[in-house]
Amino acid sequence: MLQKIFRYLNPIHQLGNIQYSVLFPVLANILVYICSEFYIYGVTDGANAGSYVIFISIAFIIYFAFRDGISGGLISTGIAIFYYLYIVWDREYQGTELLAALQTIAVIGFLYAFLALVIGWLKQTIDMLIVQEKIARHEAEESAVQLQTILQQLPVGVLIFNKSTKALLGNKQVEDILGSQVTTEIATVAPPESSIQSGTNHAVSEIQAPLLKALTTGEVTNTKEVEYVRKDERKVYLRVNAAPVRNKEQEIIAAVSTLDDITEEKDLERRKDDFVNMASHELKTPLTSMKLYIQMLLRWTASYKNPKLQKTVATMQMQADRLQDLVNDLLDVSRIQTGKLSLTKERCNLTELVAETVEVLQPTTKTQKLRFEQSKPIYVEVDRFRIYQVITNLITNAIKYSPANSDISINIANKRNEVVVSVADKGIGISPEQREKVFERLYQVTDNTERAYPGLGMGLYISKEIISRHKGRIWVESELEKGSTFYFSLPKVK
Ligand code: ADP
Repeated sequence: MLQKIFRYLNPIHQLGNIQYSVLFPVLANILVYICSEFYIYGVTDGANAGSYVIFISIAFIIYFAFRDGISGGLISTGIAIFYYLYIVWDREYQGTELLAALQTIAVIGFLYAFLALVIGWLKQTIDMLIVQEKIARHEAEESAVQLQTILQQLPVGVLIFNKSTKALLGNKQVEDILGSQVTTEIATVAPPESSIQSGTNHAVSEIQAPLLKALTTGEVTNTKEVEYVRKDERKVYLRVNAAPVRNKEQEIIAAVSTLDDITEEKDLERRKDDFVNMASHELKTPLTSMKLYIQMLLRWTASYKNPKLQKTVATMQMQADRLQDLVNDLLDVSRIQTGKLSLTKERCNLTELVAETVEVLQPTTKTQKLRFEQSKPIYVEVDRFRIYQVITNLITNAIKYSPANSDISINIANKRNEVVVSVADKGIGISPEQREKVFERLYQVTDNTERAYPGLGMGLYISKEIISRHKGRIWVESELEKGSTFYFSLPKVK
């Protein structure tokens, strides 16, 4: 109780409380002047009354202005002035004495009011700042709770490293994905700098690496795939992302990393690849014998003078060839996936190889002209068949994706360390966003439902792999509706 009264009276305790009392200053001031009136008359009999009363007034004005703001100070001032006027009336001042007293009251009143306003304004400003700070703190606490809830509800593992507190925060999903021990390890071994530098656990370090990079260099990591063996020996595949968190001054204050368990996705993909691999192998054998029979049929029908029959068998052969190309592409894709695409490199004249390919492909289009100016021989060490396959793919694409009566130019640029082969068409072109994607597996720009252009989106993927296995590069320059130029480079033989 006493403590409560003390808190109520102590103005320091009232800081930050913006509900200023009116009743308390009114009652307290009236009470104190009644008491002082009794004191002056009863005890001191009026001696030194003036300075005593002024002292009391100033003390009360300061106190109430500091406790109850401007209103508290002004109430104290008002009651003090009222009391002074009462004294003038009560003591029956006359003439010049009365005038002097009233003048003094006016001056003192003005000073009191000024004092009340200054102290009251200061007090109210301090209160406002405290309140604002309280609100900001409350909001920060609330958003921290919200963030925590969101973190726990996210379907992915999230790691947040705070630079200033050096605390690593992880949600429950991180534990589920990595196994609890590792999380403890991450949490306790953190800051990530130390565990990576000392290399305490290689796998953990790999997971932390993007986080560390984001923290130190501000680099954003997008979908880095990490293979991780848990303590219970289960192998999991994770997709790790990381990004820095910056303040208004663009300084990095934290880093966030997400861990997505893609083991099931990977498993499904592997099973799909296995199926494609198996199916294409199974298709290969009957297809080979089918082609053999078609060849025999072709020979037999050659002796019959029946053009209709010959045309039918020729169409059969063409379709069987297309089917074989498709199966071969499927097999190549699975070879790439399993790392079994082997190359038999030999020294070969690239100019000659391009010329041969152009010669083979020219008959496949009646309306488009393949232009290639054969120049002097350029030697490269490559798998002849595979490079033939790449050139074929680029030229057939150029034929497929450009209108009739448009030319296709094939060029070889002999550079200092490399040779660059280009195939340029004036066809439909590729938008900037799609340019990198066309080299991805099974990627087709055109809508599948439209089926305007046949194909499965394997050719460029296989080409890219073949070229990169030759330590070369493959890229495209293109403009929509204007045409595309595909390039690939090969290192020159020293
Ligand atoms: P596809 O069998 O579908 O042609 P590719 O891997 O060879 O497969 O090509 C992938 C995609 O790239 C194609 O579906 C097509 O949308 C686009 N593309 C390839 N070459 C060209 C080109 N010369 N002009 C325009 N688009 C092309």
